[in-house]
Amino acid sequence: MMEKYKIQMKAYRKKRMKEDNTPFVPPDRIVYVMDSLDPGKKIKAEVMTTRIKAQREVIDTLACPVCKNPMTWDQCWEGFTCNKHGKRAIYEMVKNQ
Ligand SMILES: [Zn+2]
Repeated sequence: MMEKYKIQMKAYRKKRMKEDNTPFVPPDRIVYVMDSLDPGKKIKAEVMTTRIKAQREVIDTLACPVCKNPMTWDQCWEGFTCNKHGKRAIYEMVKNQ
């Protein structure tokens, strides 16, 4: 029983790793992010380039709100990361509400 559970968990984790969770471009194309080290502040970020995935438009690069360099999606951190203005910054996407 325990073994079966372990195998299932392993398969689940593997699936999660492979899953591409790149965020979609919102209908109004306005994206808000939050610095994961300084949460609470909602920052507007500009979508730079997009690509099509499963017939939907996803964000390929997002302009860094600090240095304006393109940031790509990091699946592990579940955010857009920038290494260009000092220490690595991770920006999580927030819903515009
Ligand atoms: Zn930056």
